[in-house]
Amino acid sequence: MPERSPVVVVLVKRRIPLNLSQTLRPFGEVSIEAELCKGCGFCIEFCPMGVLELSDSINKQGYQYPRIKQGKENSCVACGMCERVCPEFAIQVREVAKKPVEVVW
Ligand code: SF4
Ligand code: SF4
Repeated sequence: MPERSPVVVVLVKRRIPLNLSQTLRPFGEVSIEAELCKGCGFCIEFCPMGVLELSDSINKQGYQYPRIKQGKENSCVACGMCERVCPEFAIQVREVAKKPVEVVW
């Protein structure tokens, strides 16, 4: 009868980058010029943080424009993607702060 191999228990710790405490995360402020918006939704679709959504309001041209989602007020990382993809130049993003990364396990 073959010898049974011992059971090996490996405790795997989550791997955290060594310099995480020195890593700062950018925070952005998004300004939406509602009257320029054509309601295409590109800014909503391409935001990597899911910050934007279509509002219930309609501008003078008859388009629904985006707003910041409730609970996502501090989620913008100032990547500028929404600003870049907006065909109407209706969005401006400004980096307002850099703060340490919060790790939530
Ligand atoms: S700047 Fe980036 S993270 Fe912030 S709302 Fe625009 S796409 Fe989203
Ligand atoms: S990308 Fe520009 S035009 Fe399209 S919904 Fe967003 S703000 Fe409006």
